[in-house]
Amino acid sequence: MTMTRDPYLLTPGPLTTSLRTRQSMLRDWGSWDSDFNAITGRIRERLLQIAHAAGTHECVPLQGSGTFAVEAAIGTLVPRTGHVLVPQNGAYCQRIARICRVLGRQLSTLDYAEDAPVAAGDIARALAADPSITHVALVHCETSTGILNPLAEIAAAVAAAGRELIVDAMSSFGALDIDARAIPFAAVVAASGKCLEGPPGMGFVLARRAALERSGGVSASLAMDLHDQWLYMQKTTQWRFTPPTHVVAAFDSAIAQYLEEGGCPARRARYERNCDILIEGLTRQGLRSFLPAAIQAPIIVTFYAPDHPQYSFKSFYNAVKAEGYILYPGKLTTVETFRVGCMGQLGERGMVGAVEAVGKVLAQLRAAA
Ligand SMILES: *Cc1c(COP(=O)(O)O)cnc(C)c1O
Repeated sequence: MTMTRDPYLLTPGPLTTSLRTRQSMLRDWGSWDSDFNAITGRIRERLLQIAHAAGTHECVPLQGSGTFAVEAAIGTLVPRTGHVLVPQNGAYCQRIARICRVLGRQLSTLDYAEDAPVAAGDIARALAADPSITHVALVHCETSTGILNPLAEIAAAVAAAGRELIVDAMSSFGALDIDARAIPFAAVVAASGKCLEGPPGMGFVLARRAALERSGGVSASLAMDLHDQWLYMQKTTQWRFTPPTHVVAAFDSAIAQYLEEGGCPARRARYERNCDILIEGLTRQGLRSFLPAAIQAPIIVTFYAPDHPQYSFKSFYNAVKAEGYILYPGKLTTVETFRVGCMGQLGERGMVGAVEAVGKVLAQLRAAA
C-alpha cells in the first residue's frame, strides 16, 4: 500500500495533531513581542482554568519535554532536606525516583506490581510510619501500562497526613478531570504534547502559590528553577530564556480547539470511545489487553504480543506502519507486549482504521505459519 497521508501516531506523545494546530506553527515570533507574550499569558491562564486552580495556583511553563518539568518541580518545590515517597507501579514512577536520587533528595519507594493501582491506604500507612516524609510524588496515569492511579483518594490521604503532593499528570491532564477545588496538591505537572494535543516542546507546572513563594533558592539548577522562571515571567511577561515560540503558538491553538470541543468531558468521551473501539476490535482479532477494565485509563492500552513464533515487534510495527499507523513498543520487563495510544486527533474513523490495519497484519502473520 502506498501512503497518501502521514501515518497516524498511536503513541502517547508526540501524537497526531490537527491541521489547524500544525498550521499555527507557520509564523515566526519574537520572544520580546507583546503579541507573543500575550499568547504565553493566555496559555497560563487557561491551563489554570482547566484545573479550576486560578485562585490558588500559579502556572509556570518550562521549555523541554515533560520530564524537564517533573524534574524542575521536584528540584524547586521539595526542599533539599525534604523526603519524597514515590509509589511505584511502572516506568514513569521509577523515573521520578531516579530524579530524586540524582537531585539528592531523600527517597522512599512503595513498590507495586505493574498491574496493581497504588492504594491510598498504603500511602496513609507509609506516611504515618515515617514522619520525615514531606512529599508524595504520584504518577496519575502510568503511561508504561495505561493504569490509572486513584488520584482523589491518594490526595486526600496525603492532605490528611499534612504532607504535600506532586502529581505527574502528564498523560492525563486535560482528559481526566483534575479539580484543584476538590483535590489538594502542591503541584500538577503536564506538557504540551499529550492530551491537550499540542506539539511536544514545553512542560508546565501548576504549583500552589504558597508552595512556590517559599521555594526561592531551593533549586540547584538555574535553567530548571521554577521559582526564578515564575518571578521573571510575573515581572516581564516573558520567558527567562528563549521560548519554543512555534510550540507555544501551536499549543495555544490546540487549547483553543480543546475548549471549542467542550473541554475535559468531551476529550475524555472521545478517548473513551477510542479506547473501547480499540479493545473491542483487537479482542475480536484474538489479542488480549494487559489490564482489567476497572483500572484501565482511556489513554493508552497495553496488549500482549500475538502468540506466534514468527512475531517480532519490529516487523509487526513496520507492517502496521505501512498501513498508516504507528504503534508503540511495550515497556513491561516480564512479558512481551505492545501499546496503542487512544490520544490525539484521530477519532472514531482513525481508530477503526487502526484496528483494521492491525487485523490485516495479524492475518498475514498467521497465514505465514
Ligand atoms: C510522557 C510522560 C512523561 C514525560 O516524558 P517525556 O519523554 O519527557 O516527554 C512523564 N510522565 C508520564 C506519565 C508520561 O506519560
